Amino acid sequence: MRRPILAANWKMNKTAADAVSFAEKFLPSAGQQAAVDVVIAPPFTALDRLRGALGGSTVELAAQNVNAEPSGAHTGEISLSMLEEFGCRYVIVGHSERRAIYGESSAQVAAKAVAVQGAGLRPIVCVGETLEERDRGDTLAVVGQQLEESLAGVSGGELVIAYEPVWAIGTGRVATPEIAQEVHAFVREKLRGLYSEVADSVRIQYGGSVKPDNAADLMAQSDIDGALVGGASLEADSFSQLVSIVASRAEG
Ligand code: PEP
Repeated sequence: MRRPILAANWKMNKTAADAVSFAEKFLPSAGQQAAVDVVIAPPFTALDRLRGALGGSTVELAAQNVNAEPSGAHTGEISLSMLEEFGCRYVIVGHSERRAIYGESSAQVAAKAVAVQGAGLRPIVCVGETLEERDRGDTLAVVGQQLEESLAGVSGGELVIAYEPVWAIGTGRVATPEIAQEVHAFVREKLRGLYSEVADSVRIQYGGSVKPDNAADLMAQSDIDGALVGGASLEADSFSQLVSIVASRAEG
């Protein structure tokens, strides 16, 4: 049984002070988890204070992005050693907003994921099709190609995949459990081709409008090992409800 992983992607939301207030509300109910990995990816500027506020809890920190280079002339960028200094254990790479708005290619995503693993951290590699691609019937081809290219050189140990259909992100239009499971099973098959025996231990999160009222049905699917959550992770109450739902999947 794979240990579920629930991750909050706060995107460009919350100051450091907001992050501390979130932790104060969230930790009493959800701060100690034995059976589920709970991860928060705040903006870079909130990492330090959030780390302090999370001290003593089981919640881990992630970054939303990283530059694959170790240092140098990359104005505005953040390196892995900077993230390590703030206790990050995970780094989200290839989020669809990075791919669509900032033109990140799968080759760049792979370079980041390789660098993340090289630093001893865990990449959360995001893939997913647009609505246009789904309507054309190209979902599996698109996701398959993104996986092959985004995982070039990446090892199967300490790897998390997030399947996030672009049409479901921030839209309130969640994939049905059947649609999500179909793609997750395909991702698992693809991972078997790439990583043989370790493929079954790679965790595959679903992301896209996950909320407390739709999470249980998604988490009941055999290849869905957790969620990457944007909107519903911004409020302590809803994120804490999601922790309980994912934890009960782990226990059941
Ligand atoms: C995301 O940004 O990764 C995401 C899934 O957002 P939302 O939950 O708001 O759809």
